[in-house]
Amino acid sequence: MSVEPERIRALDRATKQLLWDRMISSKQTVSSYVVMLDGGSLETMELTAAQAEGFECLTCKTQCSTGTEAFVPVGRIPSVGSVFQCVACAGGAR
Ligand SMILES: [Zn+2]
Repeated sequence: MSVEPERIRALDRATKQLLWDRMISSKQTVSSYVVMLDGGSLETMELTAAQAEGFECLTCKTQCSTGTEAFVPVGRIPSVGSVFQCVACAGGAR
């Protein structure tokens, strides 16, 4: 009959969501990045830090926070990290 673990989990989820939202909103500065796309081509893109660091879809800015498997890596930015697209955008691009 213990409800405490449920409440703690809910609180934990809410806290994580809050921290995530804060982190994402702190990464909305747009800069130019040279993206090394899978396939080897280099492309200069205007991206938010969140996109460049792989937290948002490269094209539509959907957040990668939920259902990470719905995102596919499409390339990387040297010294920053991998960039991703959601399945919808990746499918449209191919
Ligand atoms: Zn997308």
